Amino acid sequence: MWMRELRADLAALLWPTECVTCGAPDRDCCGACLAVLRRDRGRAGWVRAPVGVTACVAGPYSGPLRALLVACKHAGLTGFARELGERLRAPLRLALGGAESRAGVLLVAAPSRASRVRRRGYRHVELIVRAALRGKPPGGARLLPGALRAARGRSAQVGLDASARRRNAALVAVSRRARRRLRGARVVLVDDVITTGATAAGACSALAAAGAQVIAVVALCAVERRDEGRHARGGSGWSEGPSKR
Ligand SMILES: [Zn+2]
Repeated sequence: MWMRELRADLAALLWPTECVTCGAPDRDCCGACLAVLRRDRGRAGWVRAPVGVTACVAGPYSGPLRALLVACKHAGLTGFARELGERLRAPLRLALGGAESRAGVLLVAAPSRASRVRRRGYRHVELIVRAALRGKPPGGARLLPGALRAARGRSAQVGLDASARRRNAALVAVSRRARRRLRGARVVLVDDVITTGATAAGACSALAAAGAQVIAVVALCAVERRDEGRHARGGSGWSEGPSKR
């Protein structure tokens, strides 16, 4: 651990940079922000998204969790996948429950658009899942890489209204080579951020159509919907603890 810290300090000396969370002229994530991220490692809770999907998440989409995810997803800072993977472990454990129920479970990452994967050269959600499974894997769960892909015509969700989002999000396809593995398998869908839940719902439908049994949706974080949360039936927003599904 300290070797990694030392390398980060040396790199910051040689190539001065700033913290992705607070902007302090330091390493790419300063010690204070890293401490905040690590302090919450054991946290996990359930969130009910507006579309009706219930997901188990590590926390709200804010602070260092958000900053590191954005940097990993959009800025090529794939080294952050390790810290993000550490945070994904608690919600994975909570969603998977007892050890015997984890055996043979396949983890499937929500799809990114093919053009984006080509441009970036990596699937960030799968990097994070791999990091979460390293060292102390939550039971016998395994990643099934590249199982889902965005179908033709799917665009970014940003800027679409609710119904357009839902139509767009439903454009998820199961990859040909994953079909055989998915039929009859117990699957946990893993995403990075739960916003409306439309993407997760689209992915769950595609998995179910392929004969998989989706036992849970797990994500790193969820966008907090303050005003909607208070009024929505059944409540949205995120609630901590091993309680309800
Ligand atoms: Zn910082």
